[in-house]
Amino acid sequence: MSETFFNRSAQETLDELHTSPSGLSTAEAESRTKTFGPNKLSEGRKKSVAVVFLEQFKDLLVVILTIAAIISLLSGESESTIVIFAVLLLNAVLGTVQYVKAEKSLESLKAMSSPVARVIRDGARLEIPSQEVVPGDILLLEAGDLVVADGRILENFSLKVNESSLTGESESVDKTADAIPSEKVALGDQINMVFSGSLVTYGRATVVVTSTGMGTELGKIASLMNQTQQRKTPLQTSLDNFSKKLAVIILAVCVVVFMLSVFRSHMPVLDSLMFAVALAVAAIPEALSSIVTIVLAMGTQKMARQNAVIKDLKAVESLGAVSVICSDKTGTLTQNRMCPQKIYADGRLTSCEDYDLTNDAQRLLLKIALLASDATTDENAGTSIGDPTEVALVQIGDSFGIEESTYRSQHPRLRELPFDSDRKLMSTLHELEKVPTLLTKGALDVMLERSNWIYTTDGILPMTDEKRSEIINTNRSLSEEGLRVLAFAYRELPGVRDLSIEDENDFVFVGLISMIDPPRPESVQAVADAKRGGIRTVMITGDHKITATAIARQVGIFEDGDIAVEGVELDAMTDAELDEKLPRISVYARVSPEHKIRIVDAWQRQGRIVSMTGDGVNDAPALKKADIGVAMGITGTEVSKDAASMILTDDNFATIVKAVINGRNIYANIKNAIQFLLSGNTAGILCVLYASLMALPVPFAPVHLLFINLLTDSLPAIAIGMEPSRRGLLNQPPRNPKEPILNGSLLKRIVSQGLLIAVATMAAFYLGHQTGSAMLASTMAFATLTLARLFHGFNCRGDESIFRLKFGTNKYSLMAFFGGVLLLAAVLFIPGLNTLFLVAPLSMTQIGQIILLAFLPTLIIQIVKVITDRQHGSVVTGKATLSDD
Ligand code: ATP
Repeated sequence: MSETFFNRSAQETLDELHTSPSGLSTAEAESRTKTFGPNKLSEGRKKSVAVVFLEQFKDLLVVILTIAAIISLLSGESESTIVIFAVLLLNAVLGTVQYVKAEKSLESLKAMSSPVARVIRDGARLEIPSQEVVPGDILLLEAGDLVVADGRILENFSLKVNESSLTGESESVDKTADAIPSEKVALGDQINMVFSGSLVTYGRATVVVTSTGMGTELGKIASLMNQTQQRKTPLQTSLDNFSKKLAVIILAVCVVVFMLSVFRSHMPVLDSLMFAVALAVAAIPEALSSIVTIVLAMGTQKMARQNAVIKDLKAVESLGAVSVICSDKTGTLTQNRMCPQKIYADGRLTSCEDYDLTNDAQRLLLKIALLASDATTDENAGTSIGDPTEVALVQIGDSFGIEESTYRSQHPRLRELPFDSDRKLMSTLHELEKVPTLLTKGALDVMLERSNWIYTTDGILPMTDEKRSEIINTNRSLSEEGLRVLAFAYRELPGVRDLSIEDENDFVFVGLISMIDPPRPESVQAVADAKRGGIRTVMITGDHKITATAIARQVGIFEDGDIAVEGVELDAMTDAELDEKLPRISVYARVSPEHKIRIVDAWQRQGRIVSMTGDGVNDAPALKKADIGVAMGITGTEVSKDAASMILTDDNFATIVKAVINGRNIYANIKNAIQFLLSGNTAGILCVLYASLMALPVPFAPVHLLFINLLTDSLPAIAIGMEPSRRGLLNQPPRNPKEPILNGSLLKRIVSQGLLIAVATMAAFYLGHQTGSAMLASTMAFATLTLARLFHGFNCRGDESIFRLKFGTNKYSLMAFFGGVLLLAAVLFIPGLNTLFLVAPLSMTQIGQIILLAFLPTLIIQIVKVITDRQHGSVVTGKATLSDD
């Protein structure tokens, strides 16, 4: 970008970019999209499909299978060699498809959480996805926005921008629309420019876009870094490590089995090698890692359909372990549909219906309400734009036929100090009867401290202690009804000048307007559900303590014996005092975003996994600090969405609880799928080990085990991953995040169920062996093991018996079972396939024996489950209350 560019006037910039103040036309924007491409940074090096395909052959399994193929070839079983290579190829194709699918689903989640930009096109204000912004667009920025392109400032209202992603400087910098001296061109000095990737921390601005995508300063840095992203979740990494460790152990056991066969049982070397290879193929859980990825990806898709967009797969695992949810009040627990209720001015409390515009104090109150707010309503269309608190104010004007836009154009805004939840005030400067007047609205406690005067119909009087306590008492009684109360004041200034927050002082207090923001009806149920699931809900709000407590009581967060704490009280507490009181504090009121970090920290010190909501710019650090940072999709700033790991597209508290339940369900499903896969593998290992020790012929050819592990086992494993949430999930406390997924009780189940299946399989093997044919024995063992594992898919759907889970609640498990049976039947009975898979013909009796033996382990496991169901007794069937599709 040239040096002179920064020194051009805004008009020159517009001329150069052929942009009028009414913005680009749609046609021009479209043609520029073609010229400049989408406004996107290319994200590092993406793996090509070919590379992904080749990577599938990097596996230990491939080495072992190649050995198996060579042995088969040497033993004259060339068909087997072909099958093994065909299976390897198929496995690589499936692996590649899965990878590409998982990438796509992550991409679509990313697209759902990508920022939007407000632009002016064809003279109208539009919200468009950031990718569609083109050079020449007029971009409107305000506090909380993520700057999505580089641009030159045309109009500036106290804009402050954090450019740390570019300069590393964490302090926000002031920006201006003025040109700068030509020698100052270092990035941080370009005060009339904004850069893609920076965050607007304060104020507003209108900007003309100068470059997009890779043409931006951030794009240049990104192309230098060109990094690939780390995609594995902790669970995936720990399972990969487990698989690697298992492979080493199995290889050692294989060597021992080989030695035993050669030296003790005096088996020929090729046969002994076949034993060792069969054992290795039986033991390696090839499908494990990809099944976990599939289940996680499907889970996030389902959550997205239920309004919770997960930005990071890691979050799914932490979600299931959440034990504290810290939630904002306004808009999350409440409806954020403010409706004006009572007003207080000139010492009188009246309802909004009795608003009296002939009363000077009440008229002034409405004047301030209309001028010191940004909301607009369109009576005819019945729509309103802006902060609901301000919409409520504009509605009062509407009820008197006063159009805020006409009124505002009669008293133009000359300067402003935007609302900020730290200051809890908003001020605008206007000329009222030719006198520059600062009009301010905000929280009563802040305003009252700064008011030295009070406006009455008898004139402006000094604020006395008596008046002050009358106002405080009125505020308390309104707050006790759960109403949100805003205070209004003004002060005259000697002239029109730039404002600073020091100007917000020495006010003339005018009055109060209260509004109702009813709780969302679903909040009560969600809080109760969370409580049942051992999850503590805490309200954190910028609102008044009494209002907050009243609402917290209504939704069930605040109970007898609980405490509500204000930000200032929190400041006065030491960490030790906070730790001691923490379990009893259910409401934090009048807190600023910095307090949220302290609250998260305190809960985390107690070993809890914390979810924290936030919508403002300053909430970003707390969202990052929490285990699950939750941003609001509708009202949240782009900065908060950027910092969060989950975005609620409906801003609803109930969605957080739903997501936690889904997180628990996904984790439970993954655990069940692991149990299924590993118990099946254990059965295979035990059979091969037993046959080797008893000097029996090898029970399975490698193709048999490959067929089971890669085909028939994958179907029920995926079906288990799609098991719906159950009410029982809410009856359990949150999972201990430190406990490994493969804990003692899971290992016990894997081994015992594997043993049962192995016994049935070896029984079938003996039945075949009696006929004197090793091939028939192997066929019976293979068919029984495959079918037993298909039946076992039903056992692993959940802890309860199938009678409680019910067949129909997971139709995928039925489809997986019948699909697997069809595949097995094809291999056993289709001429040609049966020679490739080395299977002998079976008589009807033998088929009957296989079915009975394969069903036996499931029968035993189900009987045990029925008995334990009876012992536990509770009703656990039916869907979890909130996670219904
Ligand atoms: P939550 O933190 O639960 O989302 P909140 O909206 O009350 O709720 P803030 O937005 O931080 O929290 O507001 C804090 C206080 O600032 C409010 O209680 C109110 O008194 C005041 N306030 C809110 N909105 C405005 C506004 N648009 N202009 C002036 N003051 C406001």
